[in-house]
Amino acid sequence: LPIIRAQGSPDYFPDANFYKVEAILRPWRIPQVSSALLKMGIRGVTVSDVRGFGAQGGLTERQAGSEFSEDKFLAKVKLEIVVSKEQVEAVIDKIIEVTRTGEIGDGKIFLVPVSDVIRVRTGERGERAERMAGGRADMSSPVQN
Ligand code: ATP
Ligand code: GLN
Repeated sequence: LPIIRAQGSPDYFPDANFYKVEAILRPWRIPQVSSALLKMGIRGVTVSDVRGFGAQGGLTERQAGSEFSEDKFLAKVKLEIVVSKEQVEAVIDKIIEVTRTGEIGDGKIFLVPVSDVIRVRTGERGERAERMAGGRADMSSPVQN
């Protein structure tokens, strides 16, 4: 497949320091996505099994006949990844690179502004809470923090 980049605009609205990348994807692609994200320093990911209805209209997926469901809802996985603003496009591009088949049902990505991040263990907020040891920010500037 040709490389497709999200036609990203840095002018997200509303503006925030952090965004949640919420991706609804085919379940059988999730292992590749999580290892690709980990490799690029994205260590905080939440995943949920969901059922969805889109343009695919409940048509059974070619690669996974076992996903057939009795109603029109197909098994999907929702990935939620909160990252700092400057990491958003890299995460979106990586998800597309790894999950795109070009077939209906590849999924959709929603970008949601996040007001704050709080680490329960320490009470840290904002950038201190969003940063993860050995994460992407550390990988790009190992001297900081
Ligand atoms: P600590 O250093 O206290 O372990 P942490 O930042 O590593 O804090 P955890 O408490 O380990 O966070 O995370 C708990 C859960 O929160 C994770 O299993 C994951 O589901 C979710 N999570 C953490 N960070 C993110 C993130 N940036 N985006 C999405 N989900 C996250
Ligand atoms: N932005 C964080 C960092 O650079 C990583 C966030 C995440 O893993 N979701 O450390």
